[in-house]
Amino acid sequence: MSQMKEGIMIILSSPSGAGKTTLVKLLSERKGLITSISHTTRKPRSNEVNGKDYHFVTNDVFKKMINNQEFLEYAKVFKNFYGTTKSTIFAQLSKGKNVIFDIDWQGTEQIISQKLKNKILTFFILPPSRKELFKRLSNRDMRDKLIAEERMKQFDKDILHWKDYDYVIVNKDLEVCYSQISKFIDDKINGDENQYDTSIIEAHIKKLIS
Ligand code: 5GP
Repeated sequence: MSQMKEGIMIILSSPSGAGKTTLVKLLSERKGLITSISHTTRKPRSNEVNGKDYHFVTNDVFKKMINNQEFLEYAKVFKNFYGTTKSTIFAQLSKGKNVIFDIDWQGTEQIISQKLKNKILTFFILPPSRKELFKRLSNRDMRDKLIAEERMKQFDKDILHWKDYDYVIVNKDLEVCYSQISKFIDDKINGDENQYDTSIIEAHIKKLIS
């Protein structure tokens, strides 16, 4: 029982464009999860707010934070740095708050390898099809379509990391996807067993990479 006093860490990763950011917002709002706000050296998109979506910092500031060992994990993704700071996260977890992270597979690996005392639940979110993924990536506030194409290439590499996650979820319908994740989180918190069939996922992955 005592380990449940500490909050659990819920990690969502996905190849870019699978709809993970929307899911994280929904999970946080509806389930009262604390969202981890990362630091990044990426420039803000037009709809992003500093301190809410990310803490936008310069390369120099980020490097100083690395040297000061402020990060629980950090990684370079698409030529920019992204990282999760230790201080706020651990303060929340020790108060029993459950924290949700929107980070890539490199950060997930780093957190798992630290063997923290907190329970960790990891989800890898996939798009329903390549066609839909390209559509989502092209609709973003990006300088040109080349970036979408670059991210499609990255998708083929990122998808290979699905095996490192507890659950792989296909985001075809936002509400269905939300309900699946929500149930797995509740099961983890309550210590309940659950049904999870990897054969459907393996078939979907084959389709996505072929
Ligand atoms: P975007 O630039 O589209 O917001 O994010 C690009 C990628 O960086 C996404 O896969 C996102 O999950 C990942 N990311 C965002 N914050 C962090 C972080 O703090 N650490 C790591 N390792 N990845 C992050």
